[in-house]
Amino acid sequence: MQEFKFFYRAMKFLKSVSLSKYPIKVRRTDIKENASGFCIKKDGYFLILIDKNLSEEHSIDILLHEIAHADSWAEGYNHGLDWAIAFRRLYNLWEAFLDDWNEKILNGEK
Ligand SMILES: [Zn+2]
Repeated sequence: MQEFKFFYRAMKFLKSVSLSKYPIKVRRTDIKENASGFCIKKDGYFLILIDKNLSEEHSIDILLHEIAHADSWAEGYNHGLDWAIAFRRLYNLWEAFLDDWNEKILNGEK
């Protein structure tokens, strides 16, 4: 399997269901600070940075976390109630996507 193929599939799906007011760009990069990811408001879009040294599975976890920041940005960059609601919504959608994906694998469609 192509490197991080599933991560990029997750990214495509999560962007499609995001409620963000602005487009989201995602970059896997070296993060010097003691963090796994960031969501930064730029002029007309959100830039999400994810530590490129993380595993694919961990990267998807961080992606969910950071897109929830974009979706709840009116509240600012924190983990308040709006963020928690946004995260829960994305997480539920992602779980449904995974169930569907696994079913397709079982049916030989993937
Ligand atoms: Zn956060």
